[in-house]
Amino acid sequence: MTTRIDPWTSAGIEDYSKLFEEFGIETFAELLPHVPDPCPYMRRRIIFGHRGYVPVLDAILHNKPFGVMSGFMPSGRIHIGNKMVMDEIIWHQRKGGSAFVGIADMEAHSVRGTSWQDCRRIGVEEYLLSLIALGFEPDGHIYFQSECSDVRDLAFELGMKTNITELSAIYGFSGETNIAHLQSALVQSADILQPQIAEYEGPKPVVIPVGADQDPHIRLVRGLANKMRMFRCEVRSIQGVPYVSVRGKSAPPDALTKIFETIIGMGYNATKYKLHIDVQAGDDIHDEFVEAFPVGHAFNPHFEIAMRKIESAVRRIEIEFGGTGFMPPAATYHRFMSGLSGGKMSSSVPESIIALTEPPDEAFAKVKRAKTGGRMTLDEQKRLGGEPDECTVYELLLFHLIPDDAHIAEIYQECKSGSLMCGACKAHAAELMADFLRDHQQERKIARERLGEYGLS
Ligand code: SF4
Repeated sequence: MTTRIDPWTSAGIEDYSKLFEEFGIETFAELLPHVPDPCPYMRRRIIFGHRGYVPVLDAILHNKPFGVMSGFMPSGRIHIGNKMVMDEIIWHQRKGGSAFVGIADMEAHSVRGTSWQDCRRIGVEEYLLSLIALGFEPDGHIYFQSECSDVRDLAFELGMKTNITELSAIYGFSGETNIAHLQSALVQSADILQPQIAEYEGPKPVVIPVGADQDPHIRLVRGLANKMRMFRCEVRSIQGVPYVSVRGKSAPPDALTKIFETIIGMGYNATKYKLHIDVQAGDDIHDEFVEAFPVGHAFNPHFEIAMRKIESAVRRIEIEFGGTGFMPPAATYHRFMSGLSGGKMSSSVPESIIALTEPPDEAFAKVKRAKTGGRMTLDEQKRLGGEPDECTVYELLLFHLIPDDAHIAEIYQECKSGSLMCGACKAHAAELMADFLRDHQQERKIARERLGEYGLS
């Protein structure tokens, strides 16, 4: 078998293949050629999948409004796994997205029993200092859930659109679960939809960078976004010819009339019924759009542009009539990093993580002790080569420590061919990690001076 010199076709990705088949997560690789200057996690297929990312990419490509959002629970130390999500947020912010970061203090208080004081301290001292040190800009929005009335109010509204059975199926709640815990699940859903409220310029595509285990939560919030709508735009077809059906659930009749008049004014052939409007939209051809954005269309690109124009008009009128117009949030899905001792990375197992606040010499020693994909003896390693896909040290290099793609490809190949030995490789990784932490901790000191710019103290 020939060795592919492709350091990011990790065995791990195959483990995720059932997510594509069973849950409808789409592969990110299809979008990658269209992403301008993709971040390393995208290039290296660490971000392996997405749900609904096409409108976000469209917004990036065409300078339209979009957002990125994630939350961090203030419990335990910030570690290198959290850094990945922060880097993804910052990348989207640099591409023009409105960036939102919520400190999930209500979750930490209700689920972990963390005091409000500790939530605040850990939120700022661990998470936000690192976020700013990594490059988060002050035009982003940082908030604590407990202090954000918009999020709490929205959570209450979302509570009217779901029920205990649905939440229990996702979060494993039982009759013993305290109500505040249940409430915090709704608050997390509100976190995700908040970037689309009127205060932040209304509906827009918003991406949530998550690990694949968060997909049930993403699906819940996408469902809630739809349930909050007055109107639904659906694609239907008669004898293979697609058309757009605009259906109002409990919408004001005047809103439906206004939508009908607007769609006719846009030049489409439409028929109005008591509770819905059908629009023949298949002939709207925009080659410019097709060339600029040739992927990710459920039907065909010509139809897609018409669908988007109609959806956008419906959304605008819905908001005029007091609706939310929410778009379903998108998600990117990344692979997890393994813990340094193998298994899962967890802040409750200090040996499994590198904390971003850890003394560099301790981190150095941890990397030297980390589980590798090396063979039992030097001789075997030379003969058979190492197994970088099974190696936590290689993961550190791939995810965080080697910015240059050609360089990481070289390490991968040298490991596989048996010309690189684990001792030297680990020493190199340990040096890089200690250097990174020294620099990062210096940046954290500067970030502390800048907290005021972010409305924090
Ligand atoms: Fe891991 Fe490096 Fe050893 Fe390969 S040589 S198994 S990448 S530590």
